[in-house]
Amino acid sequence: MKKIIIANWKMNPASMQEAKRLFDAVKNTEAIICPPFVYLSVFKYKFLGAQDCHWEQSGPYTGEVSPKMLRDLGVKYVIIGHSERRALGETEEIVEKKLKAALKAGLTPIFCVGEKKGENARKVINKQLRGNLKGVIIAYEPVWAIGTGDFCSPEKAKQIREFIKKKFNNKVLYGGSVNSKIAKDYTKVGFDGLLVGGASLNAKEFKKIIKNA
Ligand code: PEP
Repeated sequence: MKKIIIANWKMNPASMQEAKRLFDAVKNTEAIICPPFVYLSVFKYKFLGAQDCHWEQSGPYTGEVSPKMLRDLGVKYVIIGHSERRALGETEEIVEKKLKAALKAGLTPIFCVGEKKGENARKVINKQLRGNLKGVIIAYEPVWAIGTGDFCSPEKAKQIREFIKKKFNNKVLYGGSVNSKIAKDYTKVGFDGLLVGGASLNAKEFKKIIKNA
């Protein structure tokens, strides 16, 4: 089965020119590309995703972007509950509202869950996976593995995947310091794909990840 590979560019690249260059280098793949909001309307692409959205479709929320606005632009996916957003104060309640709003607008949410260093993964994930998750792609992203180079071993990640799969029939991805050398180790143990941050900013490396996964 075809794997789902997602590029989370985070707040990169710093200029439109560089963003276009990176996009041109990866747009012939079928990966889901999640650039910053400001680049979304420029990129015409079947598998476009956003990195976040608000829980209302419009209203007095300065600086925010709604799921309906994204859908109207042709965006199909949206990352919800990324640990970098949770670190800015996003609570489980907010995440749940965003999931609902995204689904209502016709977007496919990529729902990030995972434990911080020292926390019990099963306990944390149990709390995070709530509400109606029909149509949601789940990404297991141990917070301590994001952007650190310290990836979660495929054996350990596999156990968490199985824990999730016991309760939810959703597709489950792994994310956290993935590179082309280890990409296939996660799909081999059953993950439906990968959420890639840092390595997705290097077109050559990202394409290798897609190929190997
Ligand atoms: C992410 O941002 O979701 C992520 C997994 O980042 P990285 O690949 O850089 O760890």
